[in-house]
Amino acid sequence: APGPVGSSVIPIVNKLQDIFAQLGSSSTIDLPQVAVVGSQSSGKSSVLEALVGRDFLPRGSDICTRRPLVLQLVYFPRRPDAPAGEMVEWGEFLHIPGKRFHDFSEIRREIQAETDREAGGNKGVSDKQIRLKIFSPNVLNITLVDLPGITKVPVGDQPTDIEARIRTMILSYIKHETCIILAVSPANADLSNSDALQMARIADPDGSRTIGVITKLDIMDKGTDARNFLLGNVIPLRLGYVGVVNRSQQDINLHRSIKDALANEESFFRRHPVYHGLSHCCGIQKLATKLNQILVQHIRSVLPGLKSRINSQLVAVAKEHASYGDVVESKAGQGVKLLNILTKYCEAFTSIIEGKNEELSTA
Ligand code: GDP
Ligand code: MG
Repeated sequence: APGPVGSSVIPIVNKLQDIFAQLGSSSTIDLPQVAVVGSQSSGKSSVLEALVGRDFLPRGSDICTRRPLVLQLVYFPRRPDAPAGEMVEWGEFLHIPGKRFHDFSEIRREIQAETDREAGGNKGVSDKQIRLKIFSPNVLNITLVDLPGITKVPVGDQPTDIEARIRTMILSYIKHETCIILAVSPANADLSNSDALQMARIADPDGSRTIGVITKLDIMDKGTDARNFLLGNVIPLRLGYVGVVNRSQQDINLHRSIKDALANEESFFRRHPVYHGLSHCCGIQKLATKLNQILVQHIRSVLPGLKSRINSQLVAVAKEHASYGDVVESKAGQGVKLLNILTKYCEAFTSIIEGKNEELSTA
């Protein structure tokens, strides 16, 4: 479970991110996020889905993730007096404000439809974000970014320079000092040739914010295993590696549940002659724990800088608002509203930094 600082600060960070997204591109700010990188079909979407514990991301052996998906997990406790069967988990898209999606397969369909709206139906890729929030009593408060994978050969509507474009898009997320990188490499390909580790190294040369994730441990060549890799003996990573087993394409086709998949993963690692001795770096649960520790630590260290940047943003918004005068009434009204919200969140930040108010509500 997250520590007291993490649990109260991260929802505010998420709120700020939404506000700044609404303010437009002139008002961006570096906030802690977790992004997955790797080649196409390495298992990035599968890893994110397992971390969330719900089925809702398009996955498959073809190119599925064609726009960046910014996914905010929002811890939303179950009311103690809630009637049995009350919906306690739902999703909301920024592009469909106010609509609660309780059916997670409907969320997947909307991601696919919204991908097609922007990137077309024929394998096109766009850098325009889709923003989705998942409210749940069962999640840690983190923001995850699912990114298109690196592909080498253009297919469908993809331009000839597709690989360079996707690399640029990935870099635009992972270059930020505040971005935690999950570098996803499939164990059934040559790990020392990993696109994920190569990209991560460009963005984070000293490896201070990269976690290696090795997928598909279940389908490695007979007689081989990823022990040395997991232990960092091949390509050392300061934050280490976690090995996972996600659902196979057949599991997806048969609609195998996440719960089953996690149980299957657990028994795979427990029975495996090599991995049962490596339980500290195997399993999606280990990845979740590791991520959370890193995130809380990270936010603690960036808070002071974050606060001063928010303050300068505030000044900029105030100036912009003043320049509207009385001419553009509605725009000015919106400016005032955003300013008020920002002020509230800045105060919240200040009190948390000073340790006065750990139990702040973000409602
Ligand atoms: P992405 O393109 O990196 O997002 O990869 P996906 O998550 O869409 O997965 C690509 C394909 O690999 C899907 O068919 C998954 O079922 C399969 N897959 C992902 N992880 C694993 C794994 O750990 N084991 C097995 N057997 N298949 C996996
Ligand atoms: Mg994907």
